[in-house]
Amino acid sequence: MTTPESQVAPPDRNRLAVHTMTTKPLSLAKAAEAYSRRGIPGISVWVEALEGMTTASAKQIVDDAGLKVPALVRGGFFCASDSLERGKRIEHNRQLIQTAADLDAEMLVLVVGAEPGVPLDQQRGWVRDGIESILPEAEAANVKLAIEPLHPMYAADKSCINRIAEARVICDQLDHCLVGIAVDVYHVWWAPDLSREIKLLGEAGRLFGFHICDWRVPTRDLLTDRGLMGDGCIDIRGIRTEVEAAGFDGWIEVEIFSEEHWAADQGDYLDKIIQRYDTHS
Ligand code: ZN
Repeated sequence: MTTPESQVAPPDRNRLAVHTMTTKPLSLAKAAEAYSRRGIPGISVWVEALEGMTTASAKQIVDDAGLKVPALVRGGFFCASDSLERGKRIEHNRQLIQTAADLDAEMLVLVVGAEPGVPLDQQRGWVRDGIESILPEAEAANVKLAIEPLHPMYAADKSCINRIAEARVICDQLDHCLVGIAVDVYHVWWAPDLSREIKLLGEAGRLFGFHICDWRVPTRDLLTDRGLMGDGCIDIRGIRTEVEAAGFDGWIEVEIFSEEHWAADQGDYLDKIIQRYDTHS
């Protein structure tokens, strides 16, 4: 699937959001100011960016900059062999839902976790049970819960959900309007069933989030060498065209973990992000 870039219009700038982790060296205040000054309307806030401040002051920072918050990133990590530990993690997710609500975030992104050595199917049961346990809080706060499948290289210790299809099974089992999926091109671009799964998500109204970056060739580090859009092999524009054809008109969130880009001037980097959003997203 390749979509000639010239045949598809660039995405709407009003849908651009940047994850605070993308500009990790910047504090929340500095990031909000830098995004706002460049006309970036959305900021997805990582829990790490809130360290050392109250949620109220974080909300004030975001509001003062005139930004919207698509997502609080990230909750989940439901998988642990010890049931007491699983309970603690569920409780932590309840608190994160409250934080998301206090920030007026649309969704809490769930990276579901993994416990090495436990059958993946059994772990997915923990994930389903965990999400079910926090649904009352999500309902009360009106915060969406977005399961994010992670690339299978993380199956052992970060996410027992690696394909959209596995996340969709849990969505089908819970069958709740606040439970859906965040599609991150970095994690799913390779999947042979990607087009079909995007279509199914759209039909079910479960496409909550869309994250972009690129897959560098070669990738020098599996955690922190994500590429700027256009610097890798992912047909981002093609995938965007498919999620939009499936009815998605939400935020397009730039989420890049990169030692190389974190070492650069973050203002110049944000200028490049906007440029590549226009030309390669
Ligand atoms: Zn993501």
